[in-house]
Amino acid sequence: MPASPAPDLTLYYPFEEKQFADHCFLCGTPTTPAQAVLVFDEWLLQRYQLAGQRIQLLDQSVQEYQNLRVPCCPGCRTRYVQPLEATVAAATAAGPAGLRALDEKTLFLWLGKMFYGILVLELLNELNPLIKPQYPLSENGQMLRRLQAFFQTFQALRVPIVFEDFVPASIFLLETDPGQDPISFEYDDDLTTMTFSIKLNGMIIIACFIDNGLLRQAMRRVYQDAQRPLHPVQLAEFKARVYYGAHLLNVIPDYYPRPIQPHDDHIIYDTLIDDITREIFNPWENSGYGQSLQEMWKRWQIPYTEIMRDPARPLSYLYDAQGTPRTLESFPVASKAGEPSDQ
Ligand SMILES: [Zn+2]
Repeated sequence: MPASPAPDLTLYYPFEEKQFADHCFLCGTPTTPAQAVLVFDEWLLQRYQLAGQRIQLLDQSVQEYQNLRVPCCPGCRTRYVQPLEATVAAATAAGPAGLRALDEKTLFLWLGKMFYGILVLELLNELNPLIKPQYPLSENGQMLRRLQAFFQTFQALRVPIVFEDFVPASIFLLETDPGQDPISFEYDDDLTTMTFSIKLNGMIIIACFIDNGLLRQAMRRVYQDAQRPLHPVQLAEFKARVYYGAHLLNVIPDYYPRPIQPHDDHIIYDTLIDDITREIFNPWENSGYGQSLQEMWKRWQIPYTEIMRDPARPLSYLYDAQGTPRTLESFPVASKAGEPSDQ
């Protein structure tokens, strides 16, 4: 049997040259316009009937899912992107148990591929002189630092990288009660806090990238309590907590590839977070969290005044006044919202 070729351990840094157009999003090889991959893969488009459905980007442009493509060379497509998509397609076809059986790095890379794909499209839009986005990503210094840190970890999709004792992201897996949840696919993101969520039937994956798992650690009790079929309004509340928590995150991890030795077949990354000179999270403020709730509860039209009726304890459908996890049979709940009596 011939020896397999040594893996390419060359890291790629796309942000110096800003080579996002006509260059492979994973390795930087020049590409032709036909050489691209779907941000949301074909199996997602088919299984969740996304053909013709649309998504709004930061520059307010609305595009169809099947038109969202990023440049990708044929080698990266067949060696890295297609196997990853096939793995996740098969796992999620088996339902929540299949999803939970996926290893966290695979999940991180799969979510990262969609997240980064959207980002590349946003960055390409910004390079277009005819488009003036409201909040240009490329002019936000902290955003660029986060993006670079993210890409360092995300290129583990192409380069064999081992994360030494850490996972780059906080990933949350939740489920909704199918009887109360008619929506088969949902996607949203907050690019500035690098938070992303995708819903596949009753399975919901929420990720905060490049926090080294800090948010999940901070939310471990709420996350534990949410391991049951949730009503969609409860899921939205959980998302509000993640998105607001990500907004409070005050640190950006540094990643250090260890020097490569002659016969190495992978790179080891170490990481460091500066929690000495700064707090990891900015202080939680209920008023800000209330706004996050209002945004996530838009579908149910819950007014901010209702959410903040008790400013010390914003409205919750996950917990009752005693802090006990609630079960929602229906929404709106029969009794006064926020009271435990409807259980
Ligand atoms: Zn490539």
